[in-house]
Amino acid sequence: MLNETRLNKVNEENLERIWQIRDYIQELEDVKDGFIGFISSDDDIDDSTRNIWISDAKEFYFSTVTAWEMLHFTVRGMKNHLDDSKGFLYRAKSRLAQSISELKIFEQEKNLSKLITKAKLAFEKCWNAFQREYKLIEPDISIMKPVPRVIKKSNHEYQLPCSICGEIAVDYRIGVGQFDKEEKLLYRGIICGTSLNKGLANELFEILENEDIAGIHEFMKNYHSNEGLDAYCPKCDKIYCWNHYKLEEEWDEGFYDCTYGECPEGYRRMIDD
Ligand SMILES: [Zn+2]
Ligand SMILES: [Zn+2]
Repeated sequence: MLNETRLNKVNEENLERIWQIRDYIQELEDVKDGFIGFISSDDDIDDSTRNIWISDAKEFYFSTVTAWEMLHFTVRGMKNHLDDSKGFLYRAKSRLAQSISELKIFEQEKNLSKLITKAKLAFEKCWNAFQREYKLIEPDISIMKPVPRVIKKSNHEYQLPCSICGEIAVDYRIGVGQFDKEEKLLYRGIICGTSLNKGLANELFEILENEDIAGIHEFMKNYHSNEGLDAYCPKCDKIYCWNHYKLEEEWDEGFYDCTYGECPEGYRRMIDD
């Protein structure tokens, strides 16, 4: 009974705090309107570009609002919405980076840099407030069982869990991908996904059997891309999920450029180009 009372109290405090996040979101609404103001006032861009850019600015804002709604559901006990909230918040971050890259063409405008600084600050406050709530909601990680390095699902499927939360970050299996005509070695990481030649499976599975994650990183450098295994931090020799490998997308005039990851130890590297 006592515990229940305490829980209810915590819940109320949580609810009160997350209502305060709405003040930050209000600032983001002003930012969104400012972005749209710049985009609408320019006659040099064509209509379809203008519409796309306006919808990017709106998506940035409304994804934040949805992330908040999902957080609200979660605090009220619907825990299955926690991952949705994180997903929408990340989408908001991505669209904000994209919008800012689109606004580059208005560089000469005096008030633009002020607005962009305001946007970044307001979103950072918002992001940090969300992260604080996520931490409070999530079960204490230290009491969880140790996370295995490699999970063998079967002779033709292996997974790599996040070294912090245990969420599956990487999956390798033999199968037929969406665009494949035949069986391939399928790879799904935290942002990359691809179908590799099935003939490589024996080599890869042997490395996985040895739990040699640095070896898998090398394998991916050889057969996939320079960035190697996207969920892997070579400095820590650990795997991180998309949430713990704080992803940061870079955009160039509205087009996706690359993604950086920064691990909890502060090591940063390009993980997708
Ligand atoms: Zn994680
Ligand atoms: Zn690291």
